[in-house]
Amino acid sequence: MQLDHDHEVLEHQTHVAELQQQREHQTHVAELQQQREQQRQIDYDREALEHQAHVAEMQQQRQIDHAREVSKHQARVAEMQQQRQIDHDREVLEHQIHVAEMQRQRQINHDREVLEHQARVAEMQQQQEQQRWIDHDQEVDQHQRHVAEVQQQQVEQTQIEYEQEVVQHEQVVQQAIDNNQALMAIPPGCRPYQEPASRHSLGAMSVQCPDCHAMHFKSERLTNSSNIHPKFGVCCLQGQIQLPPFSDPPDLLHRLLTSSTPRARKFRESIRQYNSAFAFTSLAVNVDHTVLTGRGPYSFRIHGGLYHKMGALHPPEGRPPCYAQLYIYDEQAALATRNNRNPNLDHVLMAELQDMLNANNPFVPLYKQAYHIMNECPPDVQGNLQMAIMLQPGDDRRR
Ligand SMILES: [Zn+2]
Repeated sequence: MQLDHDHEVLEHQTHVAELQQQREHQTHVAELQQQREQQRQIDYDREALEHQAHVAEMQQQRQIDHAREVSKHQARVAEMQQQRQIDHDREVLEHQIHVAEMQRQRQINHDREVLEHQARVAEMQQQQEQQRWIDHDQEVDQHQRHVAEVQQQQVEQTQIEYEQEVVQHEQVVQQAIDNNQALMAIPPGCRPYQEPASRHSLGAMSVQCPDCHAMHFKSERLTNSSNIHPKFGVCCLQGQIQLPPFSDPPDLLHRLLTSSTPRARKFRESIRQYNSAFAFTSLAVNVDHTVLTGRGPYSFRIHGGLYHKMGALHPPEGRPPCYAQLYIYDEQAALATRNNRNPNLDHVLMAELQDMLNANNPFVPLYKQAYHIMNECPPDVQGNLQMAIMLQPGDDRRR
């Protein structure tokens, strides 16, 4: 029994030793495994590093290659662009040359056409001008023939008229000589007016006196004055006589003389009759009728002096009043007398004219005063009373 236990202990110890040995081995194996693992990790890390370095190197290489290729490509592109620019420029130049050539050609064509057109126009104008001259010459020819014909007719007509006039004139002269031998004793200047054989024209009465502006015939100028600056003696003695201007007529007279109304025109048509109706005096002349027998302009020639007959302030017994006698008469009665003598005149206007003269004429109060003085005298003196109108030196003879 002791032996079995010892054996068992021994065996147990051996087994424990074995187990310890096994356990040590396992630890060793684990150590080894750890070492191997570490080694593998290190190897792996190194390989990874190497791989990374290799990859980086490759990338760098590829980068370099890529950059080189890009550079080459860019250079090629630039070269191609340059080539294309050159080609383009050449084409543009060729095109411009072509365009210039075409323009030149067109200009040449245009110039040639313009020249041809001008030549055609000039030719047409020349033809027209020639035609016009031909027409003009024909017209001138016709006109000259016509003028010559008319002149010939006029000359013939004038000759016929002249011969007729000469015959008539000779007859008149012969008649005058035959009928009145005594006429031959009259001085030549006093013989009746006879139309001269040839006519003389004084021209128009259109030359104004530079001093008084009277109108004259040119031949009336003074012989010592020029045609351009004529001077005249018959009007104002070259300005030596200067008359004061007329004062303005009364309103009524001014309107009648200047207006264009029918009333004013009718007044101007009968102005001489209106003037006579209101005259203060009558005209007394001895008219020379010998000058009125011939032809020519109207002549009025008198023998001796020209008188204005005033008559007495009172009309002779049984005669109606006239001239100045009417001014001292009752106004209504005077107007009735004037209207009776001039039935064709405007009687309303006659009344207005009488009022105007009574108010404005300086002789009316003179006559009235004289009549007044006469009436104040005794009746036996009235018949011998004499009245005189005196012209004071310096008074205007026209008034
Ligand atoms: Zn004059």
